[in-house]
Amino acid sequence: MEYRDYYKVLGVAKDAPSEDVNKAYRKLARKYHPDLNPGDKTAESRFKEINEAHEVLTDPDKRQKYDQLGSNWNRPGFDMHSYGRGGARQRTRPAGDATGAAGAESFSDFFQSIFGQAGAKAAGRTATATRPRRGDDIEQQVEVSLEEAFAGGQRMFTLTGQDRCPRCGGSGLDADGKTCTNCKGTGWTTFSRRIEVKIPAGVRDGSRIRIAGEGNPGAGTGPRGDLYLVVMLKPHPKFRREDDNLLEDLDVPYTTLVLGGEVLVPTVKGKLLLKVPAGTANGKQFRLAGQGMPRLKDGTRGDLMVKLYAVLPGTAGSPLSSRERELFTELAGMSGQQAASS
Ligand SMILES: [Zn+2]
Repeated sequence: MEYRDYYKVLGVAKDAPSEDVNKAYRKLARKYHPDLNPGDKTAESRFKEINEAHEVLTDPDKRQKYDQLGSNWNRPGFDMHSYGRGGARQRTRPAGDATGAAGAESFSDFFQSIFGQAGAKAAGRTATATRPRRGDDIEQQVEVSLEEAFAGGQRMFTLTGQDRCPRCGGSGLDADGKTCTNCKGTGWTTFSRRIEVKIPAGVRDGSRIRIAGEGNPGAGTGPRGDLYLVVMLKPHPKFRREDDNLLEDLDVPYTTLVLGGEVLVPTVKGKLLLKVPAGTANGKQFRLAGQGMPRLKDGTRGDLMVKLYAVLPGTAGSPLSSRERELFTELAGMSGQQAASS
């Protein structure tokens, strides 16, 4: 830990009166205010340093104590721990503020070793207090299969995000003013953890699932923002979705359309038997009521719309057999007679 020369920080003489200290402080604070230097970590730490110096030099008790210690503060025999609390780092939660305003946690270890946590806390109230601000909401995409969207349920999800560096509290600097080795001076660390997420039955592509309190950290005592998982529905090989309805194309033997019969229609849950009347047109659509997606609002279901397409003989890679050819020729003759007689 390095000795901090607060007079030097503000550029004032050792015997400067409070007014001069305030004047110097205001000038520097305007220059290094984080609002005017967004994202500038150097300006941010300078701003904190200025606030700390101002705090000490404008408080008669603190200034007297600081002056008395002088450069003897770390002389052998001087027990700085008697001023602090065991000299241990007392930061219990992420320190500082995204905007860099000086909160209680923004004070250096040097400051805290002299004035203790109590000093820092008291100072935090009188100095530029951290304005509590709720953290920003963040969005993350989550891929959901049609079956998952259909049934809903719990799902493990890997959440990644950024948190204030627990070592430096977000300042990016170590106690001795060097770059924090944990976050390499960025003030942020990346985390990745598994959370369980409830997928509501019926979610749609683009649906937003809110997970409270998993967004960006707030400023000061402000709460974290929320996380919104944005649903990306995976394409399904069989079904297309249209609102709460499902669409499906189904190949059937041409004879079923011509003569009528039954077909097994695949649904999301299994298969259903569909009766096909004789003389059904190719591509005709049938509605299977209640076999679509659940509706988010009330849990009722949309419909499954299935279009039947005839598979013509001799078109699926296998040529007609001679017997088939015979029969088709006969059929063709009949349709010719029909056409001629009509
Ligand atoms: Zn750090």
